[in-house]
Amino acid sequence: IQQFKRNILITGGAGFIGSHVVRLFVNKYPDYHIVNLDKLTYAGNLANLTDVENSPNYTFVKADICDYNRMVEVFGQFHIDGVIHLAAESHVDRSIKDPFSFAQTNVMGTLNLLQAAKQAWKEDYSNKLFYHISTDEVYGALDFDGTLFTEETRYDPHSPYSASKASSDHFVRAYHDTYGLPMVISNCSNNYGPYQFPEKLIPLFINNICHGKPLPVYGKGENVRDWLYVEDHVRAIDVIFHQGTIGETYNIGGFNEWKNIDLIKVMIKTVDRILGNPERTSDHLITYVTDRAGHDFRYAIDASKLKNELNWKPSLQFEDGIEKTIHWYLDHQTWMDDITTGAYQKY
Ligand code: NAD
Repeated sequence: IQQFKRNILITGGAGFIGSHVVRLFVNKYPDYHIVNLDKLTYAGNLANLTDVENSPNYTFVKADICDYNRMVEVFGQFHIDGVIHLAAESHVDRSIKDPFSFAQTNVMGTLNLLQAAKQAWKEDYSNKLFYHISTDEVYGALDFDGTLFTEETRYDPHSPYSASKASSDHFVRAYHDTYGLPMVISNCSNNYGPYQFPEKLIPLFINNICHGKPLPVYGKGENVRDWLYVEDHVRAIDVIFHQGTIGETYNIGGFNEWKNIDLIKVMIKTVDRILGNPERTSDHLITYVTDRAGHDFRYAIDASKLKNELNWKPSLQFEDGIEKTIHWYLDHQTWMDDITTGAYQKY
């Protein structure tokens, strides 16, 4: 049996961001064993990982983080010494319809993993790390006055999704403060890029523009979000996992704020140009719909701690990232069709 330098559990590795984390770690660290643990909910898709599934340092485990005994077993079986925890229910609109599953997975699931780590590591915390991946939505909403979320901003979540993520962040800190469990947390802004489930704004709209379907815009489209290309987020995760200070929180963001409506117009222009029809204009597809309940006005993140302390910054300009992303979705129409028809669940 090959001995690995590290045995890392990545939860939610079949999802959007998780699959990029798994890919980077499997390829960049052949001396680490990467155990991808995922329940394969509607959002989990092993077709996101076909390029690494046969790598000798990769193992997939289908399991639910809400199953505590199974988590204890997995820690023991694979001698896990590091965790990168991404498994979560992640869609705000679903959390408004079904808050319970968000509390289950995001809060209780995280607590199960913390307890399983504590139990497996038996307070021998040398070379151990629990890295919890979170969102900037825990900080609440900002006005349009140029202020930014910093690591010191008070938590003020508004949606069931952000409330459940805030709660999980508090549990992670509590395990550090109470039991000394070595942890880091990062809170990131909105991600976009390949393999994002097409219920989220950017892949949904790219698909709809291509097929001439309506583009439902909440309210007047005035809400502002910061956007980061997923591979830049994953580079930040790599840096924080290896060089972050235990007990610290790092904000991750793109220094890239967009009003929803302006972002949608950039997508329309880019898709229309790529599809190569100069006459084509898809602006008429924009359809304004009633705003989401409790919709936060503006999120914007100050990622200067990560930039100054760990020397990370986004590598892609937004226009380049969006162009790359649109090309990816156009080139992977089968991946998209398998999701829209539900075929991916048979994978
Ligand atoms: P996603 O919905 O694409 O993927 C979530 C993955 O978790 C799926 O593969 C799903 O099968 C798995 N999962 C869900 N419940 C599970 C359970 N009970 N047990 C095991 N696996 C389970 O989400 P994403 O967008 O990749 O987000 C990943 C993480 O990053 C989440 O914790 C999210 O809060 C955080 N985050 C996301 C963004 C973003 O813009 N997408 C931004 C900041 C932080």
